[in-house]
Amino acid sequence: MFSDKDIAHFSKLETPFYYYDLDLLQRTLSACRAAASPHGFHVHYAMKANFNASVLKKIEALGFGADCVSGNEVKKAIEIGFDPKKVVFAGVGKSDKEINEALDLDIFCFNVESVQELEVINELAEKKGKKAKVAIRINPNVDAYTHANITTGLDENKFGVNSWDLPACAEILNISTSLDFVGIHFHIGSQITNLDVYKNLCVKVNEFSNWFEDHGLKVSVLNVGGGLGIDYHHPDNQIPDFESYFKIFATFLTVRTDQEVHFELGRALVGQSASLISKVLYVKTGKKKNFIILDAGMTELMRPALYHAYHQIENISPRLAVDGSQASRPQATSADHINYDVVGPICESTDCFGKEIALPQTFRNDLIAIRSAGAYGEVMASHYNLREDVRVVTSDSY
Ligand SMILES: *Cc1c(COP(=O)(O)O)cnc(C)c1O
Repeated sequence: MFSDKDIAHFSKLETPFYYYDLDLLQRTLSACRAAASPHGFHVHYAMKANFNASVLKKIEALGFGADCVSGNEVKKAIEIGFDPKKVVFAGVGKSDKEINEALDLDIFCFNVESVQELEVINELAEKKGKKAKVAIRINPNVDAYTHANITTGLDENKFGVNSWDLPACAEILNISTSLDFVGIHFHIGSQITNLDVYKNLCVKVNEFSNWFEDHGLKVSVLNVGGGLGIDYHHPDNQIPDFESYFKIFATFLTVRTDQEVHFELGRALVGQSASLISKVLYVKTGKKKNFIILDAGMTELMRPALYHAYHQIENISPRLAVDGSQASRPQATSADHINYDVVGPICESTDCFGKEIALPQTFRNDLIAIRSAGAYGEVMASHYNLREDVRVVTSDSY
């Protein structure tokens, strides 16, 4: 929901740009923290969702840790001010350089995704005379019931160590001199909206935790990853239900008093806090289809092209505000709406934000908001077609 002041300001700016609502971000983070603290849960922010510096600073200031998936993310997190003791590093393909740099920075732990990686980390740590803290990322074979391209916890996925490789991990952990086993890690997918999925995950976490302890390895940390989804169909219904989410883990996980539970939320913390604001370049009316051609494309927001992701599209032009109030703008269900395919300028047919979207009759230079674009939006921008750097406007800048 944008105020008339926001829209008046947007009209003066060069488009396209990401608009960040930092107040909403703050409220979302506070809600998450308030829901996690009664249970003593630790939350690491999955910074691949959005590594815009103003976003990261807010998240760090509230005491969250950082979940990183590249050496550069580890370095950036620490540069921003995240405590290295709250930085975890996952990823199926950590290079020797990335491992060495993270060892030098004394991060909290490596989430190790294969038997071979465990051996390599042991070797590299040994060369430095250090002990690397490691958690084993286990692929629990739990279906996340989300889009196939963002499922990560099934046997056919590349992520994590499969159950049949765990004896080999336990053997290495028991004999290696440069590894310090801290616990087990899971991350089964993204945009998970069916919370029952997490009950199934808890059952597996309990089983694997027992398995490690039976093999002489003390599990201090149960890291259950992230993946909590947001409601892309109701961008104004903005703050995810963190309470119900954490309650599932509090209910179904078996946790001893000497164990910590860690989470890695990305999308749920930042997703609703941004919109991509774009201008209509052209309207093409055809026999079968009407097209709205925007000045934003898959180079600014790739999710629709990458995995058919849905984002709500709104015409927010000032001319639609009849008496100046938000409520007076025509709603997307009105009978006088026209169906448009909303597309970008990039030379790819997948450069399409939505098909058959009902909008009020739309004209050249109208302002269009593509909502819920705070996660996996700006960070996935590219220079394909030699596009300009993506612009960003924050709510505290006017
Ligand atoms: C991407 C990722 C997350 C965060 O996923 P969201 O769906 O954004 O919550 C957490 N942990 C790991 C290891 C990841 O790769």
